[in-house]
Amino acid sequence: MKKQLIAGNWKMNGSSQSNVALVSALAAGAANAQCQIAVCVPAPYLGQVQSLVAGTRIDLGAQDVSQHESGAFTGEVSATMLREFSTRYCLVGHSERRQYHGETDAVVAVKAQRALAAGITPIVCVGETLAEREAGRTEEVVKRQLAAVIHTNGHCISEIVVAYEPVWAIGTGKTASPEEAQQVHAVLRAQLQAATAHADRVLILYGGSMNAANAAQLLSQQDIDGGLVGGASLKAADFLTIIAAAR
Ligand code: PEP
Repeated sequence: MKKQLIAGNWKMNGSSQSNVALVSALAAGAANAQCQIAVCVPAPYLGQVQSLVAGTRIDLGAQDVSQHESGAFTGEVSATMLREFSTRYCLVGHSERRQYHGETDAVVAVKAQRALAAGITPIVCVGETLAEREAGRTEEVVKRQLAAVIHTNGHCISEIVVAYEPVWAIGTGKTASPEEAQQVHAVLRAQLQAATAHADRVLILYGGSMNAANAAQLLSQQDIDGGLVGGASLKAADFLTIIAAAR
């Protein structure tokens, strides 16, 4: 049976000092964890956290990658650069990138391609806004977002991780119910099945206000293969409780 993945998204949080305390506590508390674990950290801390997670159960992740290989793209970080820090995962298409940086489905698909080409597993984020959910458009939206990534990445699609993150649940304290989340995960699984014979290998994470209290129920759903955790990943005790709920 594939292991679930619990990935923390620190967003734009952390400091050299607090990173040491957080990662040390996680490494100690997760030494015997059943699941896979990752922390997706701000780019300036990749080198520091690479050292902190070495020899632990925790893998390193980034939060974004450039759609370009190299060149005159001030401020951008390439997949090859991320790989130099032993980055195993990279978030692509997080709703905050789509919303604040205008990332389109096509750009997200190319970012996933760049990550894969560098040997990094992209964690492709999809999810509907509240208005889209209320208009009954959830399935259409997440399928459109994933279709772009499937179209661009072809047979490599079984190498990605998908994160279903309803935008209305991110950082709001509102969580999709386990049944609501499972329903969308099943739709995404079916879409992957139509694209690859290896769809069962693809981990589909749930993200959106997952916390120590609701993780166990969400993680027990058939097509929920782990969690992408924002706020609760910054508190060692809460993140460890979520890790302990995963299998
Ligand atoms: C996220 O940013 O990916 C996320 C899921 O955030 P939160 O857990 O804080 O809702």
